[in-house]
Formats: sequence, C-alpha cells, structure tokens
Amino acid sequence: MRLAVIGTGYVGLTTGVCLAEIGHTVICVDNDKKKISLLKKNKVPIYEPGLEKILKKNVKSRRLSFAGNIKDAIKKSEVIFICVGTPPREDGSADLSYIENVAEEIAKNMDNYKLIVDKSTVPVETGEKVEITIKRNLKKNISFDVASNPEFLREGSAVYDTFNPDRVVIGVSSKRAEDILKKVYRPLKTQILVTDIKSAEIIKHASNSFLATKISFINAVANICERCGADVEKVAEGMGLDKRIGRSFLNAGIGFGGFCFPKDLEAFLWISKKLGYNFELLKNVKEINEKQKQHLVKKIEDTLWVIKGKTIGILGLAFKPNTDDMRFAPSIDIINSLQSEGARIKAYDSKAKERAKEILENVIYCSNPYEAAKGSDCLAILTEWDEVKKIDLKKIKKLMKHPIIIDGRNVFDPDKMKKMGFLYKSIGR
Ligand code: NAD
Repeated sequence: MRLAVIGTGYVGLTTGVCLAEIGHTVICVDNDKKKISLLKKNKVPIYEPGLEKILKKNVKSRRLSFAGNIKDAIKKSEVIFICVGTPPREDGSADLSYIENVAEEIAKNMDNYKLIVDKSTVPVETGEKVEITIKRNLKKNISFDVASNPEFLREGSAVYDTFNPDRVVIGVSSKRAEDILKKVYRPLKTQILVTDIKSAEIIKHASNSFLATKISFINAVANICERCGADVEKVAEGMGLDKRIGRSFLNAGIGFGGFCFPKDLEAFLWISKKLGYNFELLKNVKEINEKQKQHLVKKIEDTLWVIKGKTIGILGLAFKPNTDDMRFAPSIDIINSLQSEGARIKAYDSKAKERAKEILENVIYCSNPYEAAKGSDCLAILTEWDEVKKIDLKKIKKLMKHPIIIDGRNVFDPDKMKKMGFLYKSIGR
C-alpha cells in the first residue's frame, strides 16, 4: 500500500520505517529541514535502538523515502498518518495547532479519496475537528475518511513495540476506513480492536493515565514503606504476582516523566473538565508524582545537610533508559532544585547528554560514570541505564569524596551496598 507519514519524530519515524519493513511503500514527511536532510543521508536524528538498520534497508529497497514537502506525499498516498506533536499548553490542554496545520495542508493537496489517520495523542473529539477542517479547506468535493489509530510504542523499545504490539486500536466511522486500516496492519498478525473514533481517542488517554496511576500508587506505597521499615520492592512483587494487578509499572522511584505521561494526564484532566467531569483521582496522581521528585532532593539534603558548595554527581538524565529524550525528565526538576541551593552538578548520560545541554545550564557533563563520581560528595541515580547497573562500585567508592549514593531508581541491593561501606539510600526500602 502507498502510505504517507507526516511528522518524523519518535512516533512518526518509527511508524514509517516499520510500515515499510512490513511491505508498504512509505513517504515520511517533516517540515524540519534539518531532520529531513539527516534522514536523506540515512542518519536517524534520535536515539532509538535498531531503527537505523531497518531504515537503511528499506531506503535501499526503495520502499522508504523522505520529503520536506507534504504536497507530493499526499498525492502519491492512499493513507496519511498524522504523527506530529501535541505538546501541552500553559493551561494543560493539548496544543492541536500542528494537527490543524497538517489537516489543512492535506485538504489543499488532495485530489482523490484519502484515509486520514490520526496517530498523535489527542483529546477526544479531535477526529471530528479534523474532519471539519478538511471539509472546510477542500477545493472540490472529494470523499475522505478520518480515523483514529493511537500509538502505544515506548521510546527505547519503539521498534520492538511496533512489530509486537499488544493490540492495534482503530477508531473508524466507515467500513471502507476499517478495511483499509486492517489491510495496513494485517502483516503484523496482531489483535486489532475496532471502535468508533471517540472511543479510540479515549483509549489512549485512559491507558496512559492508568499507567501513570500505577506509578504514583506504588510511589505512595513506597512512602508508607519508608515510614514503617517495609520493602516496597517486596510489596510490588507480592502485588504483581496477582494476575489482576501485574508487576509492570509498579517500580517505585522518582516518578514518571517524558513526552507522554505528564502531558497526556494533563490533557485528559483538561478535556474531562471541559466535558463537565472533575477527575479528582488524576489530580492526585499528578501531585504524588511532583512530590516524588522533591522527595529525592530531600533525601540528599537530609544526608548532606548543607547543599551549598557540595558537588553532586548525577548518573542518568533521560526520563528512562534506552532513550535520549529529555522532555519532562524528572532529572530537570531535581537538578534545578539542587542548583538553586548552590550545588555543583556533574552529570553523566551518554545518550541524553546533547539534549540535556539544551535544557540544563551550568552542568559539568562527564564522559563516563567514574568522572561524575570523582571528588563528589554524593552520587544520585536518576535513570536506571544498564551501564549504571553494571558500574564498578569499588572503583566508584575510591573516587568519591564520601561514599554516599542516593538511588532514585532502586538499582542496587541495600544490604550489599552497606556491606561495601556505602551510605546508600533508595526509595521505599
Ligand atoms: P516529536 O516532537 O518527536 O515529533 C513530531 C514531529 O512532527 C517533529 O519532527 C516535527 O518537526 C514534525 N512536524 C510538526 N508539524 C509538522 C508539519 N506541519 N508537517 C510536517 N511535520 C511536522 O513527537 P513524538 O514524540 O513523535 O510524538 C508525536 C505524537 O505521538 C504526540 O502526540 C505524542 O503524544 C504521541 N505519542 C508519542 C509517543 C512517544 O513515546 N514519544 C508514544 C505514543 C504516542
């Protein structure tokens, strides 16, 4: 099938590359000239394991191409996936101007039937708005369908997730749109759930909000564990063995971040309010998450006493392992708080370093974990990279000014750390 993907970010690029790999002919479009010029040189502008190899393969076999202009891609494609950003506005609502722009562009360049599929995460009722926008901007009477196909991939395992989804959700309002989308995804041999457009839109917001709720729930439980001397890791294990609950997303720590959970939670709260429902539960989820970051700062304060003038080494900056994404990473708020108290920050994250430089000022970026540890009063673990899990703790201990580790991701065994002579504090145990 001939497909166009508009927006080549974490979602659009992965989607485009993987749809080419399963046999479709895909044109990926982005209005960021720098991105397109890199992609045309077979270079992936983001860090996403495995993506570059499949991209190169499909460019070579001519199933995948890149364009800076939407016009040609629309004309050549039957199905158009919208994968542009939906960032948060000041009031928490989603900024849908990128979606609107693309809908207008599609309408202006359409000359026969198109299926326009929204893959970006959007509040319920966006599909209706996209349909109205296209109708308003069409030059002549051309039939089209709008569909919702929310994306559930996780950064860091985006390629694997795209080929092995738990489900593909398609929200449609016609049999024609349903058949086309089923044909697109048939090679994946996965479960396809067909719904109306509004339900599909809510499935995405509700899923992310539910996962965020699990994280805040276990963090609240971690606070109880800390107060009474229980171990949240054991509690999570015991809870997770119950099939109705499951172990995933029950990792106590410094809370969730990234481009999805914080903004999708806000947007779901906002649209709920607009529809006349006060979603109190989600407000609490958000509040617990914010407090969790400051909880780690407090642990550092309690341990070091005066922060001013102290050197704090940071291991991990990205909002989670295996990604370079720094958007809404908990590390940002934590480092800002420590700096505002006068700490000197040395940080190590091999993949997120360049993006972190755009956000965090006055940070000394190190080229390995040992450099971050050298002369530090304390080390704080903010991302559970495999590299962090495998560090040579004996070497770290020798290099540090004081052997103090505050672990925001529960990477190490507290007993082992104590035996090694570390003052080690983690979350909920
Ligand atoms: P992103 O910022 O990485 O990518 C968006 C891309 O769209 C950018 O490259 C931008 O230049 C491009 N763009 C914007 N306007 C354009 C236009 N008019 N024409 C062509 N290109 C345009 O964003 P992302 O992380 O890929 O997220 C995209 C959407 O998918 C968001 O709604 C997000 O919530 C959702 N989503 C993201 C993830 C994730 O893990 N990142 C997972 C599921 C869903």
